[in-house]
Amino acid sequence: MAITKRTFDVVVVGAGGAGMRAALTLSQAGLKVAVLSKVFPTRSHTVAAQGGIAASLGNVNEDNWHWHMYDTVKGSDYLGDQDAIEYMCRAAPEVVYELEHFGMPFDRLDSGKIYQRPFGGHMQDYGKNPVPRACAAADRTGHALLHTLYQQNVKANTNFFIEWKALDLIRDEDGDVLGVVAMEIETSEVMILQARATLFATGGAGRIFSASTNAYINTGDGLGMAARAGIPLEDMEFFQFHPTGVHGAGVLITEGVRGEGGYLVNKDGERFMPRYAPTAKDLASRDVVSRAMATEIKEGRGCGPHGDHVLLKLDHLGDEVIRHRLPGIRDIAIKFAHVDPSKAPIPVVPTAHYMMGGIPTNYHGQVVAPHRTAPEDVVQGFYAVGECACVSVHGANRLGCNSLLDLIVFGRAAARQIIEDLKANPNPKPLPADAAERPLARLARLENQKDGESVAEVGDAMRKTMQQHCGVFRFPDLLAQGVSKIREVAERVKHTEIKDKSKVFNTARVEALELDNLIEVAQATMVAAEARKESRGAHAREDFPERDDKNWLKHSLYFSEGSRLDYKPVRLKPLTVESFPLKARVY
Ligand SMILES: Cc1cc2nc3c(=O)[nH]c(=O)nc-3n(C[C@H](O)[C@H](O)[C@H](O)COP(=O)(O)OP(=O)(O)OC[C@H]3O[C@@H](n4cnc5c(N)ncnc54)[C@H](O)[C@@H]3O)c2cc1C
Repeated sequence: MAITKRTFDVVVVGAGGAGMRAALTLSQAGLKVAVLSKVFPTRSHTVAAQGGIAASLGNVNEDNWHWHMYDTVKGSDYLGDQDAIEYMCRAAPEVVYELEHFGMPFDRLDSGKIYQRPFGGHMQDYGKNPVPRACAAADRTGHALLHTLYQQNVKANTNFFIEWKALDLIRDEDGDVLGVVAMEIETSEVMILQARATLFATGGAGRIFSASTNAYINTGDGLGMAARAGIPLEDMEFFQFHPTGVHGAGVLITEGVRGEGGYLVNKDGERFMPRYAPTAKDLASRDVVSRAMATEIKEGRGCGPHGDHVLLKLDHLGDEVIRHRLPGIRDIAIKFAHVDPSKAPIPVVPTAHYMMGGIPTNYHGQVVAPHRTAPEDVVQGFYAVGECACVSVHGANRLGCNSLLDLIVFGRAAARQIIEDLKANPNPKPLPADAAERPLARLARLENQKDGESVAEVGDAMRKTMQQHCGVFRFPDLLAQGVSKIREVAERVKHTEIKDKSKVFNTARVEALELDNLIEVAQATMVAAEARKESRGAHAREDFPERDDKNWLKHSLYFSEGSRLDYKPVRLKPLTVESFPLKARVY
């Protein structure tokens, strides 16, 4: 079958904050850039980010990047790579001012400076008191950010391929990446996009769980594509549960609510967080708050007829503050929880939210994997940024507002690196003859499968398995069963059938292709979680409740082939300052 081929300097897969920040610098440098997105760019999940973007501007109280770095290292439970963390925290003020200059409509203080609010784990003076560090546009920061970047990209003549889905990476015999094979969703047309640099910015994979704050498009496609091409996935056992998803709906209530002074109460009306985190209280790190909530519920102090949630109280903030600073939250509470937050508390539960792991990269956005003969080497032509990447700045637990920052800092860094790398590599390598073989075989299988199971059924089995076996607290027997259950589901994925082959919107085909990616992420998460015999950050094991730096201060690498794990050391050495020594983590 003849397949159309188009050639670009750079192919960016993903038009969220990370992809668009990178594309902007690349297009401005005069490169021919294609950005692919499954949805219209401004509908990427970044649009849903509420609370803010972290930067030590010090607009409200004194602050500096080194305190931010300390908080991020501590938040990561010491698993974050300190070189990348230093790079990010140092760059933060500059990239936020850059956004301001691109026209991003931040809220303002009376002084005219960018408004900042406190967020979990962001503290002054190496962990002493909460500091307002989240730069916010009401509770719609991601919306403001994404629209700003989209407009700038239109101005810079970035080529958008809207409603195009990348199916697989093209790698040649040397292991170099030469582009992607993609499908236009509406028509099922398959095309090869050849490029000297391929950047993945495909976002998260919250949809491996039944209850998630993530959009339905967050199906880990970049990770699936990388895994199938032999690239390992790093630190997949660390999945963040956000403390405040609306009970029963999963929709997120930003931590910014607690930043503005809201707090959690149990069925006795007790504000329970001070018992778990005497200093930071409701603004402790997310893993700490989620565990506290799960413990309250487990010990019978949950609210409602089933005692299965707690309450987020913010009525004391007053209608004026709620309408002005948290208008989106007010809407969500009314629509999804049927409460007016200025009168009654919102029922909330910890909900799957953010994937700390991802495609392994260095802080230039270059993908680093066992390659050629070296155990750790840059994969030529391949870059990853944003939630799909593991730099690793978030380690075992991400601090709120550090993801938007990660997108912008490393989106820009990767673009700069690509510009340099392309100067040294002016000619595209020839494509291998079998460039499109793998995705075409996947499509053909879906076309020809008879008497298979429905994608919805198998997807449901996967989501339930993850939810029951790999949650906030992890139990040894559940994990062991989870590994075999998820393997069985992976077998079933190979025999799914598209029940509705009509191409009206083509959603059935797209969902089937997405399940191939989700199952890679689910397996990596379960297998890596079962293997890590300690508790660190978001990975809390009932049988190993302590952090074990002697044996487990290392990153996991999951290889899809053979479902195999390997490990590599944490980069404890920052770029210019001293390392933060390992300490017990208390808030
Ligand atoms: C509800 C919510 C609120 C949040 N609030 C905050 C916050 O206040 N502060 C903060 O720092 N973080 C927040 N986060 C986290 C943060 O928003 C995300 O981690 C971040 O936006 C991810 O950005 P991204 O650019 O990596 O990916 P996304 O914005 O998810 O974009 C992914 C892009 O990849 C495209 N794509 C995916 N697969 C394919 C494919 N196969 N082919 C083509 N295109 C593809 C999609 O179409 C999309 O354009 C929040 C997350 C959620 C879910």
